Amino acid sequence: MANTLPLLSDHELLRRLVSFDSTSRNSNLPIADFICDYLDHPAVDIKRHLSPDGDKVNLVVRLGPEADQQRSGLVLSGHMDVVPAEEPEWTANPFTLVDDGEAFVGRGACDMKGFVALAINALARRAAGGAAGGDQDAPLTLILTYDEELGCLGARHFVDTFDGLASLPRQAIIGEPTSLDVVRLHKGHCKMSLEIKGRSAHSGYPHLGYNAIEPMGRAITALSALRQRWQRDTCPNAEHFPQVPFVALNLARLEAGVAINIIPETCRLDLGLRVLPGMRTDDLIAQVETTVASVLDGEDYRLWELNRSPPMLLSEYHALYRDLCRMMDQSTTVSASYATDAGWLQDGGFECLLWGPGTIEVAHRPNESIPKAEFQRASPLLDHAVARACGGGTTL
Ligand SMILES: [Zn+2]
Repeated sequence: MANTLPLLSDHELLRRLVSFDSTSRNSNLPIADFICDYLDHPAVDIKRHLSPDGDKVNLVVRLGPEADQQRSGLVLSGHMDVVPAEEPEWTANPFTLVDDGEAFVGRGACDMKGFVALAINALARRAAGGAAGGDQDAPLTLILTYDEELGCLGARHFVDTFDGLASLPRQAIIGEPTSLDVVRLHKGHCKMSLEIKGRSAHSGYPHLGYNAIEPMGRAITALSALRQRWQRDTCPNAEHFPQVPFVALNLARLEAGVAINIIPETCRLDLGLRVLPGMRTDDLIAQVETTVASVLDGEDYRLWELNRSPPMLLSEYHALYRDLCRMMDQSTTVSASYATDAGWLQDGGFECLLWGPGTIEVAHRPNESIPKAEFQRASPLLDHAVARACGGGTTL
């Protein structure tokens, strides 16, 4: 074990993180190993929490004492995976961080290796500066996850199976790119599939087959009516989502048929629903089930949930929220319409908010970037938040 940490600048650490192609389809073990090596220090405790197949890993990194009964201290959380970078519009290798003068450009620069670099370095600087255990009166913990981009799979596995979940600090900053707005609520996302079975036959002999597309037509009409009804319903916390103050139902993908002279044997529809905070995903799923059942009586069909990411909601009176709002001079409530790991972490007992540099508008797009000024500004702000929650270090 090393006794000193060879500290990298935030910029250099970001460059190194971006250089790993941690697209969700790949194993994240290489980037996780790099982070473990970088943080290898006697004062730093690292736990590796493997995915069920062992190909991916969540990292739980702690500096400072174990959490007390109140679970004080602070969690900083981010995901290590990125979305694919295959768009032809990339002007340079997406896994080589480019400094274009105003911004750092590269896949994950914004979503969300920028924050991950800052969080790792906030902890590393404290460890290197001797702020470990002694100076801190509460733990600083990093939770770095896998497969967020596939539907928060790593975070879900983490809250389901991590040994010692309840002894981690309770309050958590998830550093998704919010342009440094403090976000205390976001929608959840639930993905479902409906498959109808028919019987394949030559189209010249229709009496030998059963067309799976036709009953799907009824299901689509009924689901589309449900979508419109949801659009008119009044939802909890709707006032914080003025653009889309309702549950958005998206009939997203339809698959059926192989050729014009064959009666289609199966028809599958994938759909997604965006759940407002304060609503139960199960209740909405039940409404989808009832809707489908009402028009598919007697059909051979299956409706199932593919994946879900719960919504996030934190009280506007929460101490960490108020603290960060004061620090950022923010007086309005800001919400997000995308789902994040925070949904599952909140279900696992953490009190979560989103706060991170970069804007979601460039995430998942070619030439993804993070403004340099914002990235640099976030670093001392994060140090300040850590010092407030964990002790030690310097406050602004
Ligand atoms: Zn993200």
